[in-house]
Amino acid sequence: MRYAREQLIHRSERRAPIRAKRIDGKAVAEKVRSEVAADVKNWIAAGNPQPGLAVVLVGDDPASATYVRGKETATIEVGMYSETRKLPRDASQEELMEVVRELNADDRITGFLVQLPVPGHIDVDTVMHSIDPDKDVDGIHPFNMGLLLGGTPRLSPATPSGILRLLAEEGVDTSGKHVVICGRSNIVGRPLAALLLKRGEGGDATVTVCHSRTKDLGSFTRQADILVAAMGVPELITKDMVKPGAVVIDVGTVRVDDQSRERGWRLAGDMELDVRDVASLRTPVPGGVGPMTIAMLLKNVMQAARLAASGGSHQWDG
Ligand code: NAP
Repeated sequence: MRYAREQLIHRSERRAPIRAKRIDGKAVAEKVRSEVAADVKNWIAAGNPQPGLAVVLVGDDPASATYVRGKETATIEVGMYSETRKLPRDASQEELMEVVRELNADDRITGFLVQLPVPGHIDVDTVMHSIDPDKDVDGIHPFNMGLLLGGTPRLSPATPSGILRLLAEEGVDTSGKHVVICGRSNIVGRPLAALLLKRGEGGDATVTVCHSRTKDLGSFTRQADILVAAMGVPELITKDMVKPGAVVIDVGTVRVDDQSRERGWRLAGDMELDVRDVASLRTPVPGGVGPMTIAMLLKNVMQAARLAASGGSHQWDG
C-alpha cells in the first residue's frame, strides 16, 4: 500500500509541464503580406495609383539599417513603390524637416515613417508632429493617437496591431479578459492598451499597464489572462510571474552576449523560456511579434491609400 502511494506521488511529480503552444509569427506575417499583395493588385487594377512607402533613416545604426532593408524588400514584394531617404548622423533638424516636407508633398508616397531612434540632437516630437497625419503609417502623430484613444482608430501603430492579429489568428477572445501590459511606450504599450479597450471585436478587455515605477510587478503579471511584455529587459518575466494557462506575448527584442553562438550574441525577449511550462500559448523571440510589425505596416500603407483616395479625413494644419 505504502509502495503504491509512493509510486503515485512519484508519477505525479514526473508529470510533463504544460508546454505552451508556440505562435508562429512568421507564418501569420506571411499570410498578412499575401493579403496586402492581393489588395495592392486589385487596387491598381481598379485604376488607382501604386501605393508607396518611404522610410527616412538618419545615421548608420546597424540594427536600424537591417530593419529598413527588410522593409524595402517587403514593400517591393507586395507590389508597392519603395523609397529610402538616408541622412548622415550629423544631419540637422532642419534638413530632416525638409525631407519630411518633401515626402508630405510627394504624390508617389502614400505613407512614410522616420526610423527611430534618431540621433540625440534631433527633437523627435517636432519631427513626428510635422508628418502629414494621413501619411503617418506608424500611427504616432497626435491626431492618429487621439483617434485611437477615443476608440476610433484609423492608422494604428503596427506592433500592437500585429499582436491583436496574432491573438485573433489563434482564436483568443479578448472580451472580458484581463490583459496586463508591461511597458508604456508610445509605439507598443500605450496604443495596445487603447486598442484592447476599444468596444467590439479584438477589444473589450480589462487592461492594466505596468512600467518601471510599478511596485511588485509579479503581483500584476500573475493576474493576467493575457500577458504582454514590451520592456526591452531581457528575461525579466520568470515563470513564477505567469498565471497557469495564460497567453504570453513577448515583444522584447534585445541582443545579449552569448559566447556559445558563433556570432557571440543572441536575441532575447523579456520572458525567460521557462514560461512555456506554465503558459498555454506563447510567442517566441525571434519569430513571434517581430515579423508582424512590417506586415502590419504594409497594411497601414493600404489604409493610407484608401484615406487619400477618399480625400483624407482630417482637418489638421498643425
Ligand atoms: P521603450 O520605449 O524603451 O519602453 C520600455 C517600457 O518598459 C517603458 O514604459 C518602461 O517604463 C518599461 N520598463 C522598463 N523597465 C521596466 C521594468 N523593470 N519593469 C517594468 N517596466 C519596465 O521600449 P519600446 O520601444 O516599447 O520597446 C520595448 C521592447 O520591445 C524593446 O526590446 C524593443 O526592441 C522591442 N520592440 C519590438 C518590436 C517588434 O516589432 N518586435 C517593436 C517595437 C519594440 P517607463 O515608462 O517607466 O520608463
